[in-house]
Amino acid sequence: MTNYVDETRYSIGVDLGGTDIKAGLVSSAGDIFCRVVLPTDVETGGPKVVAARIAEAVRQVLVNAGTTSIDITSENPESREGLLGRFFEATSSIQTDDDVHEIGVGLGAPGLIIAETGVVHFSPNFPGWSDIPLVAYVNAELEKLQPPKPAVQTDTHKRCKPVLRGMDNDVNAMTLGELHHGAGVGYKSLVALTLGTGVGGGVVIDGKVYHGSRNTAGELGHTVVEPNGRVCGCGNPGCLEAYAGAKNIVERIQGKIEDGRRSSLADPLDEGVALTPRMIAEAAEAGDALAIEIFAETGQYIGIALTSIAHILNPQIAIIGGGIAEAGEKLLFEPIRKELSKRAMDIPAQMEIVKAHLGNDAGIVGAAMLAMEGA
Ligand SMILES: [Zn+2]
Repeated sequence: MTNYVDETRYSIGVDLGGTDIKAGLVSSAGDIFCRVVLPTDVETGGPKVVAARIAEAVRQVLVNAGTTSIDITSENPESREGLLGRFFEATSSIQTDDDVHEIGVGLGAPGLIIAETGVVHFSPNFPGWSDIPLVAYVNAELEKLQPPKPAVQTDTHKRCKPVLRGMDNDVNAMTLGELHHGAGVGYKSLVALTLGTGVGGGVVIDGKVYHGSRNTAGELGHTVVEPNGRVCGCGNPGCLEAYAGAKNIVERIQGKIEDGRRSSLADPLDEGVALTPRMIAEAAEAGDALAIEIFAETGQYIGIALTSIAHILNPQIAIIGGGIAEAGEKLLFEPIRKELSKRAMDIPAQMEIVKAHLGNDAGIVGAAMLAMEGA
């Protein structure tokens, strides 16, 4: 494996979602350039159509990069003046391999991903996909983008050929992003939790994302926190996700209001307003006792899950991201820490709990790191 920390290098990170494909050129320092967002267009076709959309996003990143002053074909950061290694619209074939600079692409995709073989086993965002060799499909599409020999050949202007080098689960990619360029910098063992619609997780042991025996490790959202509790989307009662997922937080406060608890959110609910975690957080900040209680309980459940995780893995740090984490220190992080210190043995209880740093960029940065790791 190449050590990519000592020299500035670039790869392209692609964050595949059910709605959008986000892509960008990422330096080994973790900076993103030349961003592109395209609709995934999953309705219009099968996996090959999505693979073509991914290739199109990569092409657009390279075209955008062509107008910048970054030379991605150079491994020497001193030589950044001049144009980027040229990427041209495909109109003819490459004549010699010496003129071509291969640039790695990494892909984060939702669902159960078999990283070694580049296969999407199953994805809730892509109904009907079963054991899809997505890496092979994307590389077939990228092949079609091969840049032609430029009219004027120079020593410094090589042409870029993108190659998809790695794919992993999107949460594992985000975890890798936080490890290399976010809240996890300087740590070797960590866990990451993303609190969004669902609750995703990633595990890093000794500097590497841990995949388990069959690629399903890190499903921290399905840690049981209440034996006979709310039924999770996975069918099991009492998973963390059934309490800390966005929809579940909303349902919990609605249930309490319907049971007669007072809250400033009762009136908007009566008027048919669809509550969101952000509205609950705003009510809590304005002093609404029930909203504060809902976040305290959410923190408590996360703390219970992290207690088990701390005892099993003894990570140095737990990184918590996603929209719900925006509720912040007082509403969410303090209750989490309080629960962990109440329950865990003294050494595992010392696990640090921090907010993720990269926000929505973690997916692109982490995906790009997949390509650099495989370099
Ligand atoms: Zn579950």
